Amino acid sequence: MRLKLKTVFVLYFTVSLLGLIYALMQLGQRCDCTEHDAARDRTISRLRGELHSLREQMKKPEPTKPQKPGLPTIYVITPTYTRLVQKAELTRLSQTLLHVRQLHWILVEDSPHKTVLVSEFLVHSGLTYTHLNVPTPRESKLQEGDPSWLKPRGAEQRNEGLRWLRETAGGQQGAQLEEGVVYFADDDNTYSLQLFEEMRGTQTVSVWPVGLVGGMRYEGPVVEQGRVVRFHTGWRPSRPFPLDMAGFAVSLRLVLANPDAHFDGNAPMGFLESSFLQGLVTMEELEPKADMCTKVLVWHTRTEKPKMKREDALQKQGLGSDPGMEV
Ligand code: UDP
Ligand code: MN
Repeated sequence: MRLKLKTVFVLYFTVSLLGLIYALMQLGQRCDCTEHDAARDRTISRLRGELHSLREQMKKPEPTKPQKPGLPTIYVITPTYTRLVQKAELTRLSQTLLHVRQLHWILVEDSPHKTVLVSEFLVHSGLTYTHLNVPTPRESKLQEGDPSWLKPRGAEQRNEGLRWLRETAGGQQGAQLEEGVVYFADDDNTYSLQLFEEMRGTQTVSVWPVGLVGGMRYEGPVVEQGRVVRFHTGWRPSRPFPLDMAGFAVSLRLVLANPDAHFDGNAPMGFLESSFLQGLVTMEELEPKADMCTKVLVWHTRTEKPKMKREDALQKQGLGSDPGMEV
């Protein structure tokens, strides 16, 4: 229920007016004043309490988009990890997701514990969410200086999101099972709102192009007579599914019907997406979206790592930025 400021003021005014009328009526009347005062104090304190709780309700963030029954839920699984730009990335992504109806964000931290930054962030995000965490094993993690393509990133976290979905939604069977779509959204990409409406009708696996990826202007499926016949990619087109993580969505039914489908964290470079999709569909079964894969609605943007040269220099003089200030 959304409380308007006006409603609270009308309530406040009515309560005050009633109090005044009551006080005037009591004037000149004989009474046992101690008992009378105590009752009045109790009423005042009860009304104060009600006013306080109404004010608190007004402060609570509400999901901006109402949930609509009958509309398939989009489950967005996002791996994320602690770094300087994390809060900025999460702010940008969450504020995109706030515009999407019937969306459930599954944010999975690459960490042995849930961090305060992410926990607090989610509480105030206004989104419907599930907060999970799982650390990437040390041997699978990129080390400082490693090229970014050396090892797949976020595999364990996406699998943890899938595990949660299967455990939570998997209890429902057949006709009881809600319609849903699963999308893997990295925290640093750029998503058009139209993309989410394109994927909402996914029956098995839907696909579309991704901009600024793989050293190309875009990569994506090539469609002829309504079917995907090959892929436009700059590298190893022979891969089973030469698609970027941002370029497909899977129906929840298909995820639940294939309880073993998962991302292979040890897959060779460029084969992470294939390791998940291989057992789920064939190329012929893919559902092309975004005007038969002729529109780019998602971009594989990457954020520059901020340089901390001046911060480091100032810290050496004891003049660094306040470490208590969350960035
Ligand atoms: N990620 C992670 N742990 C890591 C590195 C990355 O969970 O050690 C997440 C990251 O937050 C993002 C996804 O995995 O959501 C893909 O990582 P990144 O954007 O660095 O990959 P790239 O853009 O190079 O494919
Ligand atoms: Mn990225």
